[in-house]
Amino acid sequence: MKTITITISVPDGVNVSVGQGQAASKPFVAREAPPAPDDYCPVHDVAWKLVPAGVSKTKFDDNGNPKPYNAFWACPERGCNEKPGRPGDADLLPF
Ligand SMILES: [Zn+2]
Repeated sequence: MKTITITISVPDGVNVSVGQGQAASKPFVAREAPPAPDDYCPVHDVAWKLVPAGVSKTKFDDNGNPKPYNAFWACPERGCNEKPGRPGDADLLPF
């Protein structure tokens, strides 16, 4: 096994934990349903469908509770992984 050393600078007062807790899930933040996208699934040429917020049937948090998720838009076709583009994201690009 290789050993590497990583130095991380952390401001005073910030707790850093390394180890088993590292993979801990981020705390869930409930959000309003996103606005309706004005494009279509590029594969199926159908309008996106709003999936209401709920809890996951397949993902669980560290305590074994189903993970909650926020409402999102998705293709109504089963198994389709296409997602609407978010026009606002372009503004976040650093160039
Ligand atoms: Zn689709």
